[in-house]
Amino acid sequence: MLVVMKPQATEEDIRRVAAKIEAMGFRAHLIPGAQRTAVGITGNPGPLDPAEFESLPGVAEAIRVSKPYKLVSREVKPENSVIQVGPAEAGVRIGGPELGIIAGPCAVESREQLLLAAEAVKKAGARLLRGGAFKPRTSPYSFQGLGRPALEALAEARRQFGLMIVTETIDPENCDLVEEYADVLQVGARNMQNFSLLKRVGRSPKPVLLKRGLSATLEEFLMAAEYVLSEGNYNVILCERGVRTFSDHSRNTLDLSLVPAVKSLSHLPILVDPSHGTGRRDKVIPMARAAVAAGADGLIVEVHPDPDRALSDGYQSLFPSQFQELMNQVTAIAAVLGRSTQPRSGMAPS
Ligand code: PEP
Ligand code: MN
Repeated sequence: MLVVMKPQATEEDIRRVAAKIEAMGFRAHLIPGAQRTAVGITGNPGPLDPAEFESLPGVAEAIRVSKPYKLVSREVKPENSVIQVGPAEAGVRIGGPELGIIAGPCAVESREQLLLAAEAVKKAGARLLRGGAFKPRTSPYSFQGLGRPALEALAEARRQFGLMIVTETIDPENCDLVEEYADVLQVGARNMQNFSLLKRVGRSPKPVLLKRGLSATLEEFLMAAEYVLSEGNYNVILCERGVRTFSDHSRNTLDLSLVPAVKSLSHLPILVDPSHGTGRRDKVIPMARAAVAAGADGLIVEVHPDPDRALSDGYQSLFPSQFQELMNQVTAIAAVLGRSTQPRSGMAPS
């Protein structure tokens, strides 16, 4: 249920509604909006009586939310959510007019490799740096990531280049460490339904980048996001990264129609990963262009200073010069849609 407050409701009115919800043993979620605040209720085993809330001062109405994903749904929040990554002065806002462009290697392989990648993606205009410290690999014998030294290297890149750090957390225990370094906690496709991890990142102060599972439906994807929001972390960025199909010309099939589908059902921003979505370097730039044209709020792209020697996903990683080309092209496409790859003031802060 959603308790919609009147535009002139006072903070005291809102507090009273939240206190009543908590006293009933349920959870109250404050959802501020442009016109009015709403209070979402979760944890109730069955339908509640709207009259219980509509008699309270400052309440406009209490409505049932029809979708199974409550807090993620546009029914509870009509405006797009804009997620603040990093500090307000130096960070990046994802979901507004600026596209969130995350780029970097699949995995951090060494300090040198990461700093070279960071320098290249920064120069091309990316404002967020990706790089796995812990890699969920199909084979237990494949490179699993460097762990803490990789996180140290990411922090060094942030210091040197002012890039925000996006890196994956693979289980709830591991999250304690990753959270100390990351600006955004990535939950990978293989973990989209790792419910204990979703609950753990739901209690984190850091924004979460949630990737779509390998064969997840839109509803399953949004329900996974709901796990995070239901724990109190409303800063979730969704990411389409391709799904498993019978196609054999690409690693996965990038499902770009998910972008408008998410936009109509949810207020959360959605990025697209054309790297894992195609698995082939020559398909990354075309699908990045298409993703931006489809209305994605940004991209996550694998870029490596020496892709042929990469320890993971080299065949889908762009050379730095190709990433520059991608940025030039998506910047032009973004402009058609009234968006940009840089903050409104023009150049990225250095
Ligand atoms: C990644 O981003 O490196 C990754 C492992 O992605 P996914 O979880 O989408 O496979
Ligand atoms: Mn990868």
